[in-house]
Amino acid sequence: MPPELVAAIEAIAALPGIGRRSAMRIAFELIKQGAPRVNNLSRALTQLVAAVETCARCGAYTSAPPAGERQTCPYCDSARRSSESLCVVENPSDVYAVENTGEHNGLYHVLGGVLSPLDGIGPEELQLPRLAERVKTLAAKEVIVAANPSVEGNATGHYIADMLKPAGVRVTRIATGLALGQMLDFAETQAISQSLKARVEL
Ligand SMILES: [Zn+2]
Repeated sequence: MPPELVAAIEAIAALPGIGRRSAMRIAFELIKQGAPRVNNLSRALTQLVAAVETCARCGAYTSAPPAGERQTCPYCDSARRSSESLCVVENPSDVYAVENTGEHNGLYHVLGGVLSPLDGIGPEELQLPRLAERVKTLAAKEVIVAANPSVEGNATGHYIADMLKPAGVRVTRIATGLALGQMLDFAETQAISQSLKARVEL
């Protein structure tokens, strides 16, 4: 094989969920498609990493602002969204799983992970102090924890409840054990929607 082909296969196979066989098929297909389409792909990927940043307030993905400006996202900037309820998620991509349901008209807060003392991840490693700050600034009335169903996710939910309930904030958790990162199609959106409606007090 030409070394360029080997390099491309290796780069594609390094993507999540793509094995070597698929990587080879994709590489052969890209050669067949030719320069214009491959250049489009290459441009989109370059833009993806150059222009997508995280919101300075909530941590959701947003387009990079002009130089010198603080980047905020369309959710934080929207006058139509309620600041009374904050939905807490682990990752920026989880925002879309919740947003697709149309059930949440509040704001978001991305933690950047979950508490995991064994891995050295405590509150300070996550956006937990910032959550307390935002809840206070926004005078939020409810925090909905949509962390993934795991021991760490549960512990994180309880930590948030202990942190915010003394201040009179309602802390709830989405009802069933759904891993938001894997929930991006329509049927799953229905499940998340149900889970949001049937959320439980923490
Ligand atoms: Zn934001």
